[in-house]
Amino acid sequence: MLIKIESLTKRFGTATAVDAAEIRVEKPAMIGIIGRSGAGKSTLLRMINRLTPATSGRILVDGTDVLTLKGAALRRWRRDCAMIFQQFNLVPRLDVVTNVMLGRLNGHSALASAFNVFSEADVRQALAHLDRLGIAEHALKRAEALSGGQQQRVAIARALMQDPKFVLADEPIASLDPLNAQVVMDALRRIHVEQGLSVICNLHTLDTARRYCDRVIGMRAGRIVFDGPAELLTEAM
Ligand code: ADP
Ligand code: ADP
Repeated sequence: MLIKIESLTKRFGTATAVDAAEIRVEKPAMIGIIGRSGAGKSTLLRMINRLTPATSGRILVDGTDVLTLKGAALRRWRRDCAMIFQQFNLVPRLDVVTNVMLGRLNGHSALASAFNVFSEADVRQALAHLDRLGIAEHALKRAEALSGGQQQRVAIARALMQDPKFVLADEPIASLDPLNAQVVMDALRRIHVEQGLSVICNLHTLDTARRYCDRVIGMRAGRIVFDGPAELLTEAM
């Protein structure tokens, strides 16, 4: 088993944002989480990689509850589950290839650029990721000069530099036009198929989930109201 989430809750004051009874990911999968705005999708993903503290519950990964991890083990876990955000979260003035290499550092970005800590192997690997994502020609441009779809592919390359076991994508295409959305979803799907990684992405349209995901988790008011193959998802969601 890869991940088993049990009775995971998040309360903000008296409001319950997430109350997820159980989610199991037993083999690598491309999973879409769908539900209206406010359903708890983002909070759920952020609890998994410990960006948001959970109120109660367990997230077992190969038997270890990641909610109990501290220090080096917590940093290791955060590296294992790379995160992709709606707004890309690149460093706008840094060039693309450096943005990608920041994935190696897990957040110590200012230090990295100040001390130039990257090796030639890092550069080569970053360029290879950019090449596979079709944006190698932009490697030396500032991130801010790229289109949204290109920036999101840079963020995917940065995620891959972490050598993650999972990719967690929080509304990865919500800021993109349909064509770029397709390019980015294709890239995430390829990561799952070719590298055997689990990709869990929050999506707000059923169509996207049906098209790209083998499995869909439906959330409503913090609860899991559907979990199964996209074909079985009814319009009730
Ligand atoms: P999204 O629709 O992408 O989930 P939101 O606009 O709802 O984003 O939230 C943006 C940020 O504001 C997030 O960091 C979220 O945690 C925070 N947030 C959302 N709702 C509230 C709230 N009721 N009170 C305080 N912060 C909130
Ligand atoms: P979704 O990603 O499905 O849009 P969220 O996880 O962003 O949903 O939000 C779930 C619920 O939690 C919403 O009611 C939202 O307003 C609330 N919420 C999210 N972040 C915060 C926060 N930082 N403080 C208070 N309430 C929040």
